[in-house]
Amino acid sequence: AEQIAGAIHAARLLRELEIANRKLRELSMIDGLTGIANRRCFDLRLEEEWRRNTNRGTPLALLMVDVDCFKALNDALGHLQGDECLREIARLCGTGVRGDDDLVARYGGEELAILLPGCALGDAAHVAEELCAGVRKRRMPHPNSPTGSYVTVSIGVAAMYPSRRVSPQDLIAAADRALYAAKRQGRDRTESAAAGTACA
Ligand code: GH3
Ligand code: MG
Ligand code: MG
Repeated sequence: AEQIAGAIHAARLLRELEIANRKLRELSMIDGLTGIANRRCFDLRLEEEWRRNTNRGTPLALLMVDVDCFKALNDALGHLQGDECLREIARLCGTGVRGDDDLVARYGGEELAILLPGCALGDAAHVAEELCAGVRKRRMPHPNSPTGSYVTVSIGVAAMYPSRRVSPQDLIAAADRALYAAKRQGRDRTESAAAGTACA
């Protein structure tokens, strides 16, 4: 009887350990502030989707979303309000994507990344336009922004057909270049990667 009780106890402990491990694995992929996927999760999913879309011959799109003049918002309203703003933008990003495999992640600081598997440049640009307008319409106060009285975002969009000639880093670099073009042109707007640097 003692041996059976011991075996039952050991089996229960093992199950509890498995559940705790699963929970830890999940937590290690989530950003603590916003509750969306973190950078680690983004990096893993990008590699995975790169492989998957190479095999399928389908494109992979990436949106890099950056809050405009976020430092000025922190300076004017305080970091807690800044945190609240980031949470809201993360939420708005989530409502803007529809595909089962789409991923919204916190890339770092006040930058979010949206990965759209199977999506070409034109469709990704449309998602970006809607999101940019959605943030503007949400009318979160920004007392010190050159784009107006409310929080805005700039978004860089790129899409590629993954192959051995290009890498996931090329996709990130193309979206980044587009993001900085949007910043240079005045913020509160989206820009798509130039043809040639990324394919539609
Ligand atoms: P730009 O329009 O060129 O993007 O200007 P910016 O002020 O948004 O960019 P900058 O890189 O100068 O500043 C980003 C700021 O984001 C600085 C940093 O303190 C703030 N930040 C990064 N992570 C967090 C966070 O988790 N919470 C808060 N409240 N602020 C954050
Ligand atoms: Mg930034
Ligand atoms: Mg910014």
